Amino acid sequence: MRVLKFGGSSVADSEAIGRVAAIVARQPGATVVVVSALAGVTDALLLLADTAAAGGNCQPGLDALLQRHDAIAATISHPQRRQLAELSISGFADSARTTLRAIAADGRTHPALLDKLVAVGELWSSRLVDAAVSDAGVESHWVDARGVVKTDGRHQAASPDFEATVKCLDRLVRPWLARQRVVVLGGFIGSGPDGAPTTLGRGGSDYSATILGACLAADEIQIWTDVDGVLTADPRVVHDAQVLPVLSYEAAHTLARFGAKILHPRTMEPAAARGIPVRVLNSFRPDATGTRIGPAVIGGAAEASAASSRADIALVEIRLDHAPIEAGAIARVFGELHDAGIAVILAELCDGRLALAVDAAADLEPLQRRLSGHTTVQVTLGKSAVCVVAAPVAREARLVFDALTLLGTTPIHLMARPAGAATLGLVVDTADALMVVKQLHDGIVARPCSPAVQGVA
Ligand code: ASP
Ligand code: MG
Repeated sequence: MRVLKFGGSSVADSEAIGRVAAIVARQPGATVVVVSALAGVTDALLLLADTAAAGGNCQPGLDALLQRHDAIAATISHPQRRQLAELSISGFADSARTTLRAIAADGRTHPALLDKLVAVGELWSSRLVDAAVSDAGVESHWVDARGVVKTDGRHQAASPDFEATVKCLDRLVRPWLARQRVVVLGGFIGSGPDGAPTTLGRGGSDYSATILGACLAADEIQIWTDVDGVLTADPRVVHDAQVLPVLSYEAAHTLARFGAKILHPRTMEPAAARGIPVRVLNSFRPDATGTRIGPAVIGGAAEASAASSRADIALVEIRLDHAPIEAGAIARVFGELHDAGIAVILAELCDGRLALAVDAAADLEPLQRRLSGHTTVQVTLGKSAVCVVAAPVAREARLVFDALTLLGTTPIHLMARPAGAATLGLVVDTADALMVVKQLHDGIVARPCSPAVQGVA
């Protein structure tokens, strides 16, 4: 079976949704179709949330969104399907209205309420795409993604609970796929253990597609967008940027973390873990070959080169009052960041200064508070992170934390880690070197999948 994901511009209006239906119809068989909200809808909903929190009038904005979706529903030719689409669209609009009232009453945009509100964008779009696919003569079935993609409940940046998701899919999706049906659902959204709606972070529909692909052991995941594939650079910056015909999971992951907007930064994790090929395709030019992302082949074509950059980076410089800095102290910093859900894009340790590049939007207050005492933390805003990918080298997010925790009190003099890369370079005392090699080997190399360290942080 396949998972096909369509981004906001691929479902922006009835013409675009018609193209989606045609693309789905061209590939018969068991298919999961994951869709983003219509282009601009998530932004518009977030703006409404701000308006509500500030005590403003949300009615005109919500009416405009409702009208936009209604206009597309009106183009569905089958009368019952059209009616069903219209009914569910107005039902979801009612729930958006209720949530906006709750935000207004609260006077602030609580993350749980924001998730509840923005989920409506994907609920609307998925209903429309479901109706359009059926209208194109392909039997499809709509599923509420909030009941299928189970997460850890972290609002606005949820992580998937794969086990729980597999169980829900077995119940709600597999039976339809077994009958060779198309299942349509919204990307980006899911729900936590308590059933409250969660989202996977902006642009998260890509991630939904690979989460679902991994849970369903898909043969292929297709990410349909509005460009011809993954490019060697942002074409707005580099005018003659080229489409990469093939790319490794690792390179795609690193590029996404460094701001390549084409894929949500965590998209590759589930696909790479399962070895499922991901194709990035253009819904406006469905015959273009796109980019095929898969395992790295040493010396092979997948070792493509590309560059990307990401603005809004905070440079965090941490100075600990020990010289030399013990590995365990750095491990605690990474443990804190990991627990707070703050991704480290770049890290370097040099001369008693630990420098980290993180998203400027990350809330560093708790970390600063917890580290105060024998540590000075300096945060500088207004930075960008730039990367060049030349070879496939990515592994998992916990590598630095695991490695440094394993090394405990061993002094570390320098560390550099391009984000997303599996390579961790350390400079240690020669007297410690053989022991360090053995500890890293036994704790990480010999146990590539399971966390090397238990009961820490
Ligand atoms: N609609 C969501 C967003 O705009 C998710 C997505 O498009 O992937 O961020
Ligand atoms: Mg996107």
